[in-house]
Amino acid sequence: MNEEVPQSGASSFFCVRERKVIMSSEWLSVAEIFGEDVFNDAVMQERLPKKVYKKLKQTIEEGKELDLETADVIAHEMKEWAIEKGATHYTHWFQPMTNVTAEKHDSFISPTGDGQVIMDFSGKELVKGEPDASSFPSGGLRATFEARGYTAWDPTSPAFIKDQTLYIPTAFCSYSGEALDKKTPLLRSMDTLNTQAVRMLHLLGNDTVKRVSATIGPEQEYFLVDKDLYSRRKDLIFCGRTLFGAPAPKGQEMEDHYFGALKPRVSAYMHDLDLELWKLGIPAKTKHNEVAPAQHELAPVFDTANIAVDHNQLTMEIMKKVAEKHGLTCLLHEKPFEGINGSGKHNNWSLTTDDGVNLLNPGRTPAQNTQFLIFLMAVIKAVDDYADLMRISAASAGNDHRLGGNEAPPAIVSIFLGDELTHVLESIENDTYFGKQEKIQLDTGAPVLPHFLKDNTDRNRTSPFAFTGNKFEFRMLGSAASVATPNIILNTAVAESLDQFYEELKDTDPADMDEAVHALLKRAIQKHKKVIFNGNGYSDEWVKEASRRGLDNLESTPDCLERLLTAKSITLFTKHHIYTEEEIRSRHDILLENYVKTIAIEARTMVDILSRDFLPALLSYTGAVASSTSSKKALLPDLKTDAEEALVRKLSNCYEILADGVQDLKEQLAKTEKEEDLKRSAFLGRNLLIPSLKHLGTAASEAEALIPENLLPYPSYDQLLFSL
Ligand code: ADP
Ligand code: MG
Repeated sequence: MNEEVPQSGASSFFCVRERKVIMSSEWLSVAEIFGEDVFNDAVMQERLPKKVYKKLKQTIEEGKELDLETADVIAHEMKEWAIEKGATHYTHWFQPMTNVTAEKHDSFISPTGDGQVIMDFSGKELVKGEPDASSFPSGGLRATFEARGYTAWDPTSPAFIKDQTLYIPTAFCSYSGEALDKKTPLLRSMDTLNTQAVRMLHLLGNDTVKRVSATIGPEQEYFLVDKDLYSRRKDLIFCGRTLFGAPAPKGQEMEDHYFGALKPRVSAYMHDLDLELWKLGIPAKTKHNEVAPAQHELAPVFDTANIAVDHNQLTMEIMKKVAEKHGLTCLLHEKPFEGINGSGKHNNWSLTTDDGVNLLNPGRTPAQNTQFLIFLMAVIKAVDDYADLMRISAASAGNDHRLGGNEAPPAIVSIFLGDELTHVLESIENDTYFGKQEKIQLDTGAPVLPHFLKDNTDRNRTSPFAFTGNKFEFRMLGSAASVATPNIILNTAVAESLDQFYEELKDTDPADMDEAVHALLKRAIQKHKKVIFNGNGYSDEWVKEASRRGLDNLESTPDCLERLLTAKSITLFTKHHIYTEEEIRSRHDILLENYVKTIAIEARTMVDILSRDFLPALLSYTGAVASSTSSKKALLPDLKTDAEEALVRKLSNCYEILADGVQDLKEQLAKTEKEEDLKRSAFLGRNLLIPSLKHLGTAASEAEALIPENLLPYPSYDQLLFSL
């Protein structure tokens, strides 16, 4: 670690006060610490013999197989580097079908027989691991008698060091080769998309391109609450969200939190978080306060899909870890609090060629940019054809609370293109020439300010899938989810569009290509324009209009999940070798099971909090008011106590409603849990438990507002949201 003191004024240097007390006034170079814990390209070049480095690069860039001899050399150098950095262990780090990662640590030690050890790490250990797979969700893919699972090194995502351990990103599969994770299908989808995109570019006469990669920039929203307060909320601990709470007198109505000045504790947290992420080579770029009180956002610079997904998993983990250090808890749940915005994740997505061209960049004259139009149209077609799968990629019990709320688009998948591109497509459809639109100067009216050119797409924050200048932004995702699934689906669906376009164009004489492309675009626009919507996606009119257009509005997780099993979905995934049919069924079952379990946990937590904490508090307060009223009355019979009596009545009413509700919820829970058919159980959860949870939540919040704060058995919304 370099601790040099830079020349003053160097912009790339950053003041790091919290790092170590003794360095409190020293400056540290971000450029120096960035990636210091990563076995990245620079380290590989420096450490690996030239021939070995070249072979590894071929594996990374062209997917060539790596021989064991080469792997041995890489493993050795990785281990030496890791030990120099203080590592004692290594782990195959993987992404089972939960939304979090998994790891099992092995030390490098190898006994030498004379009571001593050497530190050893072979190519075989680098390339393959055999964790016991029986306790990870497999959706029936792997019977427990065949518990073996394999992890396989993914050399395209660099190894790194965390907690004295060398982390090796790996894919995770069963003994018979079925993918038990999210990385394997993601890599498969990137490969398919690459093949289809390159083939299309070659057909269009662009023969310099060798590789096309999907790029992703996931913006991550989160809440920060004080850790002590958090630890007194059972609902936050068990469910990740509050099940009820009387609203604080102030919510987000003043619109003063979004982009507001950072509070010192939050700022210190974000600063520390940036440092930890930078050390791991994660290009954390933007941080700001979000709309709701205590809500924030972090966005990295985009990267290739595979690395961006790994980085987002790590980011979520490090967010939680750094929060602990600051006496905070980071909430990644989609709807931690009623009445204010929940958290999402925006998946910015584009396609980049190996020669650095963004295929979704319209250039100055989009109407004449055939390559751009084909790729744009491929995405529009993909999202329209597989809107239900896109919806599924954002489906979870947590995100169901958010979609269609004030903070998120409805469960209808549509595309925002902006005026200029919409005009371009209209002109193609109607054979009207679309002249070059001059960019308009943005006049701020203040001559001292620089003059900008206006972007050709305005921001539309209400669209679930918006074109934002040179990329698409998928905004439906929940904050806690892995970004792997939406990208698997998007990559595959776009690959399928490109495949169909290729089949239509492949026999065209190059001289007629422009005309053929024009005709193809025209047909595609006519077929898919129904998915384009530039208006307000949050309005009720849109819900009606979408239904007229025949677009799906799949409101809840059980509603949409069955679409994963349609013939169309299975054909898409099996044709492109993303999932086998069994792998799709397993994902479906895991998602459904997760939904059922999440709601059951919420129901049990509600029963527990109400019966053991809240109702006793309510009862004792009612008792206190009642006895004070009656003793006053005994003392002074003519005293007016109407308000007190009304309060006792109100409190007692609340008690009755809640006690009855708890009883109902218990019975419904038992019924749901007795149901052996997963799908029926999910619908029971949706139709019985969720309405009951809502009903109890509202009633408890109303009752809570009647009770003095100091008698509440847990911290209130006031404290949770406004204490930092
Ligand atoms: P917003 O206004 O929605 O916050 P930003 O311009 O800050 O949008 O960008 C959001 C994210 O989009 C960032 O993570 C950024 O790196 C990412 N991004 C930019 N270009 C691309 C691209 N070509 N492919 C994928 N992601 C991109
Ligand atoms: Mg955004």
